[in-house]
Amino acid sequence: MLNTNLLNAMNDQIGKEIESSYLYLSMAAHFEAGNWPGFAQWMKTQNHEEWGHAMKFFDFIITRGGRVVLPAIAQPQSAFESHLAIFEQTLEHEKQVTASIHHLYDLALECKDYASQVFLQWFITEQVEEEKSAAALVETLKTIGDKPSTLIYLDKRVGDRK
Ligand code: MG
Repeated sequence: MLNTNLLNAMNDQIGKEIESSYLYLSMAAHFEAGNWPGFAQWMKTQNHEEWGHAMKFFDFIITRGGRVVLPAIAQPQSAFESHLAIFEQTLEHEKQVTASIHHLYDLALECKDYASQVFLQWFITEQVEEEKSAAALVETLKTIGDKPSTLIYLDKRVGDRK
């Protein structure tokens, strides 16, 4: 059985992953509205990944005999500024998720819950990738600025993300 504090924190994490999913879907809607199909696709892919993260916690809790209790999800932000601002926000958001995963790992260490430690290690690795991909786009957008001609080129490239 999962320790109660760890169980509650994992249930909260399901909410955080779905909140991430919802935020990225809202960013996708923003890009769709501005006719940036590649950036919209990137955000839709991100949306699916985050939903997948939530389901990993869902399934792990069940496997360990815990009860999943879903927290409330707030309405996501719907107005956004520049491409650069959006990816800076994405990077900041992922850093918060990383901190939250590390907190879960600390709890798993305190509880000497070895199975949870192994489970959470996947997320620790995943967060390194999440931060890396957002940071790379922040750097590229800083370099090219907000010229539509270069953004159109980048939109195509970003849309190729699998
Ligand atoms: Mg995630």
